[in-house]
Amino acid sequence: MDFNFNEEESMIRDMVRELVQNKFVNRAGKIDEEALFPEKNIAELAELGLLGSLLDPEYGGAGSSTLSYSIILEEIAKACASTSVIVSVTTMVGLAIQREGSDEQKKKYVTRIAEGDTLGAFCLTEPTAGSDPSGMKTTAVIDGDEYIINGSKFWITNALHSDIFLVMAIEDASLGSKGISAFIVEKSAIKSGIMTIGPAEKKMGLHGSHTSAIFFDNVRIPKENRLGELGAGLAIALKSLDTGRIGIASQALGIADSAFKAAIAYAREREQFGRPIGKFQGVSFKIAEMQMKLEAARLVTHKAAWMKDQGMKHTMNSSIAKAYATEVASEITAQAIRVHGGMGFSRELPLERYHRDVQATLLYEGTNEIQRFVIARSLGL
Ligand SMILES: Cc1cc2nc3c(=O)[nH]c(=O)nc-3n(C[C@H](O)[C@H](O)[C@H](O)COP(=O)(O)OP(=O)(O)OC[C@H]3O[C@@H](n4cnc5c(N)ncnc54)[C@H](O)[C@@H]3O)c2cc1C
Repeated sequence: MDFNFNEEESMIRDMVRELVQNKFVNRAGKIDEEALFPEKNIAELAELGLLGSLLDPEYGGAGSSTLSYSIILEEIAKACASTSVIVSVTTMVGLAIQREGSDEQKKKYVTRIAEGDTLGAFCLTEPTAGSDPSGMKTTAVIDGDEYIINGSKFWITNALHSDIFLVMAIEDASLGSKGISAFIVEKSAIKSGIMTIGPAEKKMGLHGSHTSAIFFDNVRIPKENRLGELGAGLAIALKSLDTGRIGIASQALGIADSAFKAAIAYAREREQFGRPIGKFQGVSFKIAEMQMKLEAARLVTHKAAWMKDQGMKHTMNSSIAKAYATEVASEITAQAIRVHGGMGFSRELPLERYHRDVQATLLYEGTNEIQRFVIARSLGL
C-alpha cells in the first residue's frame, strides 16, 4: 500500500494550493460578509480546467482521478468553502450526464460544463421530498416531441448561476419511485413556459454559494432531453451522490484543516500564566485529538475516492467518508474556536465562518442520519 500522492496528484495539489492561498484566502471574508458569488474564483478555476477535472478529455475535461478531485476540493475549501461546493455540484451534474447521456447530450452539455461556460444545478429536493426523494411532486408529462415540466424544487445550489439543470421528476406516477426520470433543462433554450428562480436563501453559512427555490410552470423541453430511461431518475440521482459525497467529505477536510492549523499557530503564539497555551496539556491534548481525527477522516475519504477509481462499489465508503469527515470537521472547528478563547468568537478571524460553513456539510447530499441508513443497508440490515 502506497500512501504517497503520485506525481500528477502532487502537481495538481501544488497548483491549486498556490492559486487558493494567493488569491482565494484574501477574498473569502468579503464573500462571506456580503454573500457575494465568488465570480473571480470560479473564473480562475475554469481557466485552469478545474471545473471539469473529473470529466473526460473527449468533452473538454481533464480526466483526473477521483483522488485528484478530492485533493482539489480540499485545497479550495481550505480558503473558501462556498467555492468548493459550487465546484462540487457542477462536477456532479457533468458526471451524471457523462455517465448516463447519449453522445449528443454529452457533446452538448458536458463540454459546456467542462469548459466553464456554465455551472450545473442538481435538482432533487422539494418541499415534500428531502431525505425521502420519492415524496416528490414535480411532474414531466410527454406531449408530442416535448416534455412539460410542472412543480418546484427547493434548496438548489447554483440555481441563480447555471444554465444546465438536472431535474428529477415523476414521469409515470403509477410506477411510484420507479416512475421518476431525470431531465436536462437548459434554461436559455426553454421555448415556452416559465422557469422562475427565487432569490438566494439567507443561510447560516456558505454565503457565497447561492441556494434558491425553482418553480416550473408548464416548462417545455425537447423529448431528447430525458437523461437515461424512463424511471431511471432516482438511480441516477443516488449514483451521482455516491461521488458527490466524496466531494462533501473533501470539502469538510479542507475547512477542518484550516481550523486545525489556526489552532496550532495560536497555541504556539498566545501566552498565559507565563507560557504558550500549547504547553498546557488541556490545550495540547485538544490539538492532538484534532490531528488524530483529521488524519482518520482523510484516510477514509481518500479510500472512498480510490475505490471509485478502481471501479469498485463505493456507496458505503462514500457514506462513511461523508458522515465521518463532516462530523470530525464540525468538532474540529468548534474546538479551534475554544483554543482561541474570546478571539475565536470574533468575526475578525475566520474561525466562526469555518464553523458556520461546515454545518451544511452535515446536512446536504443526504443528512448524516441518512448516511448511517445507507451504511446499515449496505451491511444487510
Ligand atoms: C446549503 C444547502 C444546499 C443544498 N443544495 C441542494 C442542491 O443543490 N440540490 C438538492 O436537490 N438539494 C439541496 N439541498 C437540500 C438537502 O439535500 C436536504 O436539505 C437534505 O437532503 C435533507 O432534507 P430536508 O432538509 O428535507 O430534511 P428532512 O428530510 O425533513 O430531515 C429532517 C431530519 O429528519 C431526519 N430524518 C429524515 N428521515 C430519516 C430517517 N429515515 N432516519 C433517521 N432520520 C431521518 C434527518 O436526518 C434530519 O435530521 C441543500 C441543502 C442545503 C442546506
